[in-house]
Amino acid sequence: MTEAVTVEAFGRPRIKPEHRAYRTVDGNVRVGSVIHGIGAEIADPQGWVWTLVEAMDGSRGPSEVVAEVLRTHPDLPGEDARQAMADLLAAGFVDDARASVPVPPREEDRYSRGVPLLRWMDLAPRTSPWDAQLRLREARVLLIGVGGTGGHAAQALVASGVGHVHCVDPDAVELSNLNRQPLYRESDLGRPKVEAAVATLRALNSDVTVTGERREVARPEELAALVAGSRQAGRPPGGPPSVSAAGWGATGAEHHKPDGTPGPAGPPAETAEGAGRALSSSTPAPALPPSPYDLLVLAADRPDAIRQWTNRACLAAGLPWVDAGYRGPLVTAGVYVPGQGACWECLRDGEIARRDLRLGPGQDPEVASPRMPWNPASAVTAGLSGALLAHAALALLTGVPAMEPGFRFGVNLMLPGDPVHQRTPRHLDCPACGERA
Ligand SMILES: [Zn+2]
Repeated sequence: MTEAVTVEAFGRPRIKPEHRAYRTVDGNVRVGSVIHGIGAEIADPQGWVWTLVEAMDGSRGPSEVVAEVLRTHPDLPGEDARQAMADLLAAGFVDDARASVPVPPREEDRYSRGVPLLRWMDLAPRTSPWDAQLRLREARVLLIGVGGTGGHAAQALVASGVGHVHCVDPDAVELSNLNRQPLYRESDLGRPKVEAAVATLRALNSDVTVTGERREVARPEELAALVAGSRQAGRPPGGPPSVSAAGWGATGAEHHKPDGTPGPAGPPAETAEGAGRALSSSTPAPALPPSPYDLLVLAADRPDAIRQWTNRACLAAGLPWVDAGYRGPLVTAGVYVPGQGACWECLRDGEIARRDLRLGPGQDPEVASPRMPWNPASAVTAGLSGALLAHAALALLTGVPAMEPGFRFGVNLMLPGDPVHQRTPRHLDCPACGERA
């Protein structure tokens, strides 16, 4: 959608308030804030660029802005001023002061702090910062796991206005959860997590739809069934009887679907930028019908193979997904879009090769990273993990900030000055996404 935006589309072009320009001591114009990754510096030997950015205060139409620049710089070709305005717009420094707010006043107020942040981080030419918020409003997210990471992520997604979040978790609330899992209280002990989670999340934001089901993912087919939006666990007759499949559908508010399911099969009405790209990608050819979701958010680490199952199911369905977790003080999140960059298995294999663990032939790489049944975790590591996960999810759903998928990023609490970033090219011989997969 970004390429179609022209100067004429901006009724009252305005340098975004968060990108307010200033003049450096040597006369250059800095615009876009001084945050690395956003701002730009423009040489301005004649001083007209400064006049231009000052004139783009939202009080003038494009032609009036050009006229204002020419009034003080009569020798300047008008086309130069117009082109500079187009360049500022294309770089994402401009919005339209006259753009309408396309949501009810209650939502305008609720998201009145988040939308300016989206505007600040958005470097795509858009007339209205509410475009990104509308994408969230339309989004359907499948969240697997509502423990520490998943609870923090769910809170962020629901608070941010993701239109429908469907939560899946098999567990009940235990006392040992309460050091890090934000959705539960002591009064919830023994209660199914997903029931308590849905209640907490609905109390946080009744303008979105939150549903859930108590369900264990014990086999890859069950993961694929969740991706397909099926409420049937895909469990064969005679499966473990201990798992109930009770669902907590939405009730009450009129905009909720009557049965609380994540919608009928079929593509969502409007896919997010990331999802749209994935579904239109030529490789790999989706082997499953499109998922009713726009994104899968994985916040479960059991069974051990759940990330691999998710990778395979999402590749088959063309569904973007994100995951996050921690190993002690190392917290990371991953961003994957089928057909764009490395898949989870490409990245895992690339990381094993990069780490140079000095293992003997056939030795399991897991020996270098101890896993304990009690999985050490705090409110800090779970909170960071869930926040990074939510950031990845929101970025894929809105395109803000733009992300190139196929990577992990994170924080090592032992070395805060040492950012964690893992990226590897897609492996042509990857067993999941490669040419022969
Ligand atoms: Zn791969």
